[in-house]
Amino acid sequence: MGPSATRDGLSTPSALRLPAVGHSRTDRSQPGVVIARASLPENRLLAALPPAAWRRLAPDLTRVSLAFGEVVHQPGAAARHVYFPDECLISLLVVLEHETLLEVGLVGREGAVGAGAALGNPTAPVRALVQREGSALRCSAERFRREMKRSPALARAVERHTHASMATAMQIAACNRTHLLGPRLARWLLMMSDRGASEDLRLTQGLLADMLGVQRAGVTVAASALQRRRLIRYSRGRMKILDPQGLRATACSCYEVIRRLLDGAR
Ligand SMILES: [Zn+2]
Repeated sequence: MGPSATRDGLSTPSALRLPAVGHSRTDRSQPGVVIARASLPENRLLAALPPAAWRRLAPDLTRVSLAFGEVVHQPGAAARHVYFPDECLISLLVVLEHETLLEVGLVGREGAVGAGAALGNPTAPVRALVQREGSALRCSAERFRREMKRSPALARAVERHTHASMATAMQIAACNRTHLLGPRLARWLLMMSDRGASEDLRLTQGLLADMLGVQRAGVTVAASALQRRRLIRYSRGRMKILDPQGLRATACSCYEVIRRLLDGAR
């Protein structure tokens, strides 16, 4: 759980209203520095909207700065907002007993977190945890639901994204049950990279172990093996992909399946 988590288990991201075109500002009273940019969204789901739908929705979007480790949705709790990452990456995690976590999805600027709430499901099915810090646009689930009814293009985009998310979760479930840790770790790093995180990744072994559903010792062995082959560099909680092609050759077949799902959702 993130450092700013509240008693109900949900953290409160720092937020600013989305400003008009071309404006930019910094709010030092918030935990994260929020710099607003041009009004056109970097999130691809929003960027695909027809101009009229974007103009209607834009005033009700807030740009928020999400910190590493923040929890934006908890399973069983009301999902009041939909998040559209542009810089950040958000992991979707099933929470089992004793805080055992297992990742079933990873959302970057291609998608949205909480779109299920807009489809009429008031509670979040999984924990949504910020895996890579950065900004996202946020909209109330109620407002997003109204816009989906009005905009067939938005409804279709959300349907495509929801289908891809479900199929990805199924593939990851099968992967975790079937494939060896090394190829799974390679698959996961490439998924991060495809969603815009190709630079240094901030990754602790505990976090990696949670993401992949294994013990920390197993992660150490798998990461060391990738490092010896010069596919990645890993030191002091930072990981960098050195050889994407080599990593693709090492990843399990699930990677290509998930990559095609990602392409199909765009
Ligand atoms: Zn696999």
